[in-house]
Amino acid sequence: MSKVIIQECKDYSPDDVIDKINSGIEKLGGWDIFVKKGNVVLLKVNLIGPKTSDSAAITHSEFVRAITKILINRGCTVWIGDSSGGAIAGISPTAQGLKVSGYERVAKEEGAIIKNFDREGVIEIEPKGKYKEKMYLAKPLFDADVVINLPKLKTHSANIYTGAVKNVFGCVLGLRKAMYHKIAPTKDDFGEIIVDIHEGVKFDLHIMDGIISMQGEGPTAGDVYEANKILISTDPLALDTVAVNMLGMTVEDIPILNAARKRNLGQYNLDKIEIDGDYNTIPHLKNYKLPKNSKNKRRMSTKSVVKVIDFFKTRPAINLKKCKKCNMCVESCPLNAIDTDSKKIDYNKCIECMCCHELCIHKAVELKRDNILAGIIARLSR
Ligand code: SF4
Ligand code: SF4
Repeated sequence: MSKVIIQECKDYSPDDVIDKINSGIEKLGGWDIFVKKGNVVLLKVNLIGPKTSDSAAITHSEFVRAITKILINRGCTVWIGDSSGGAIAGISPTAQGLKVSGYERVAKEEGAIIKNFDREGVIEIEPKGKYKEKMYLAKPLFDADVVINLPKLKTHSANIYTGAVKNVFGCVLGLRKAMYHKIAPTKDDFGEIIVDIHEGVKFDLHIMDGIISMQGEGPTAGDVYEANKILISTDPLALDTVAVNMLGMTVEDIPILNAARKRNLGQYNLDKIEIDGDYNTIPHLKNYKLPKNSKNKRRMSTKSVVKVIDFFKTRPAINLKKCKKCNMCVESCPLNAIDTDSKKIDYNKCIECMCCHELCIHKAVELKRDNILAGIIARLSR
């Protein structure tokens, strides 16, 4: 039996959010089960890109503030981290996102530490699913004592829904995400990758920001829906099972959740999920707009997806005219892919994590597009 707490929360007033989260955690046995004084706790937010908190595209910064306050009051060190999306289009806007979202401001005001995953290096894991490609995940996930997943309640025009299960994709750094979209271009196969990440990282708790959520053409272009809910569970699949039911769907409607169900990531049978908190049955969110393609069984062909990714293919390259030979990039490259003398990058080793690009203060690590036309489009769209 898994347990999902559903709390009603009318807005992001920190005291209200703190009360609702604390009373929800009590129903799961209390904070002492999850964190101890002195722990380093990583809050893995949903920072899909440089979006404001009021856009409903990201975990709201005031939601992050509330949890940060709770944990700091309990004597924990708090890290706030993610790696943004954008890899298919060959962009990696995590640093900008951390500012625009308000996370940097919240961290400064509350005494938390920002972890831009794209700057932090990786840990290599062996996936247990059908894709045997070595997986490189953000190092802070393994350095922290406790990892709390803070997904956003949102629709997703490609994957229909995104929540606790899908939110872990930001554990893959920078442009490396594009490789997974390429080797697993169908929604079902992409679900396999997501489950591999869950099996590689220990997430202790999942607390979903559904106070304002995104409906319609999410994850970034939808409309705000005031759902006024916070969902809490130790089981990401049970949490998402409840959340999609709130929106009028089932696990079977969402390919990523279906993959998680088949790989036993958690509970998906509603008869085996206990609902607690402000509700003891699942509330339904009226007139919640789903993405236009949610009933469309036609899929973009695998070849088309790969063509788009190849078109926008981007790699880091060192501009020797700007390079000051400080070797920061050489020393921070987790794959030792940069030659110390020539500063040439060995693309057979490079995982496009963006550490070198993020850490070069001289802006000598540039992003080069393989396709000239894609470069022109990117410049025009800026
Ligand atoms: S970090 Fe930048 S300046 Fe330093 S060696 Fe690398 S490319 Fe050159
Ligand atoms: S050269 Fe190294 S640090 Fe730079 S993107 Fe590739 S793997 Fe990452």
